[in-house]
Amino acid sequence: IPVEPFDLVIFGGTGDLARRKILPGLYRRFLAGQMPVESRIIGAARGDLTDEAFRQMVAEAIAEFVPGDRRDDKMIAAFLERVGFVSIDAKGTGGWDQLAARMRPGVVRAFYFSVAPALFGDLAERLHAHGIADAQARIVVEKPFGRDLASARALNAVLAAHFDEHQIYRIDHYLGKETVQNLMAVRFANILFEPLWKAEYIDHVQITVAETVGVEGRGAYYDKSGAMRDMVQNHLMQLLCLIAMEPPYHFDPDAVRDEKLKVIRALDAPLPEDIVRGQYLPGGGQGGYVEHSENPQSRTESYIALKCHISNWRWKGTPFYLRTGKRLRARASEIAITFKEPPHSIFDDAKGWRENVLVIRLQPNEGMNLMMMIKEPGPGGMRLMQVPLDMSFADALGADAEDIPDAYERLIMDVIRGNQTLFMRGDEVEAAWAWADPIIAGWEARGDRPQGYDPGSSGPEDALMLMHRDGRRWREIK
Ligand code: NAP
Repeated sequence: IPVEPFDLVIFGGTGDLARRKILPGLYRRFLAGQMPVESRIIGAARGDLTDEAFRQMVAEAIAEFVPGDRRDDKMIAAFLERVGFVSIDAKGTGGWDQLAARMRPGVVRAFYFSVAPALFGDLAERLHAHGIADAQARIVVEKPFGRDLASARALNAVLAAHFDEHQIYRIDHYLGKETVQNLMAVRFANILFEPLWKAEYIDHVQITVAETVGVEGRGAYYDKSGAMRDMVQNHLMQLLCLIAMEPPYHFDPDAVRDEKLKVIRALDAPLPEDIVRGQYLPGGGQGGYVEHSENPQSRTESYIALKCHISNWRWKGTPFYLRTGKRLRARASEIAITFKEPPHSIFDDAKGWRENVLVIRLQPNEGMNLMMMIKEPGPGGMRLMQVPLDMSFADALGADAEDIPDAYERLIMDVIRGNQTLFMRGDEVEAAWAWADPIIAGWEARGDRPQGYDPGSSGPEDALMLMHRDGRRWREIK
């Protein structure tokens, strides 16, 4: 279904994110017929590019980041006709009148701030001063949204000086993933799970975001952040909220976000002994974290695992284990919900028994798996075995799987539609920092050092112990 025609200005249009995700994503939506031909995309950055030079850059980005079978020369040419460029310094005065002159009445106006957060205030102010952003205009902002509660509040205040909350789209691309939205469909469109979705029946929840890459190339930036700020406070927290939230009264942006906010507010801080931080060691011909961050004394974590509890009626007693790290064995993101044992076993041979686990895979192979017990086929008597009820989207959709929009594509289309459901609200971001800040301050005050772990492993030893202590095991990262 096509969205309304729009003018989309991408500040930072020549940057890495625009080249890798935003522009190729828009081309794919154009190809799919979702971006109307009346739409315009305007790149903006300080560089002195002509429209033609920018189009050339966009063509190269499409060639590099869109698979060959999705590249159609005619469609690319038609897409590029809708692309232009204005040279603007977010902190300067030049270029704004030219931008104002390019904006058209009667179409949706959206401004993607794909620049450093330090420039958000300058952009917001100048868009207003030049009358470019009207009351319907939308702005899209990228992570990191602050590095603590104080800086997140300051950013919210800077944006709120010129835009209403309903105009501000804070991106967390995890929320744009097909499986993440499917999690809501599975929970709230079926009767099967919701009655069991509580501490009484759920033993524990694991959320894993494992990466194989290190921080090489952006080590200096990362060293000021670390896994807690870079991944847990935003992405893992959002996933946790979608699992733990109460059913919203409607699939409506504020109804959903109200419920997520309640989860964050009910989330206890983990005890110091329930937090494990790690740093990858050198190996595989590559330097370790301290070499990549160029800070031999660094205490920043490239890995974190923690156990936390949600203090409310539904979840009292069910631990949530979160872990994320770099240079691990495989690139894999998943949520695993492990159910409790049946109250009584009627089978003599209970050896084969395993818990039911609902696995929601974000990558690779987005899909869901429900681990079920059945009778082992054959004449061997009543022996139990576990089999997956497998729903891989690629299998379910066949050739159409290629057309599933990636997270950025979907989120940009949601901006044009004016649907904020999959974007973080200001109070949510602040609540998540209010949870994370004292945890970080705690390990800083204690002077904790991260534990080294081998690249290609599944993380530090202590992280395994975090689970073993509770008689549980992490799922294998593969
Ligand atoms: P980048 O590659 O450094 O690009 C920055 C862009 O901003 C360039 O187009 C640059 O062009 C422009 N720019 C810099 N200063 C400017 C100014 N004063 N006025 C106008 N334009 C200016 O950065 P990026 O990786 O694309 O990241 C952009 C934002 O997205 C950052 O907030 C980042 O944290 C966030 N983000 C990036 C990724 C990613 O994968 N790259 C992922 C998540 C979030 P000129 O130098 O010509 O002005």
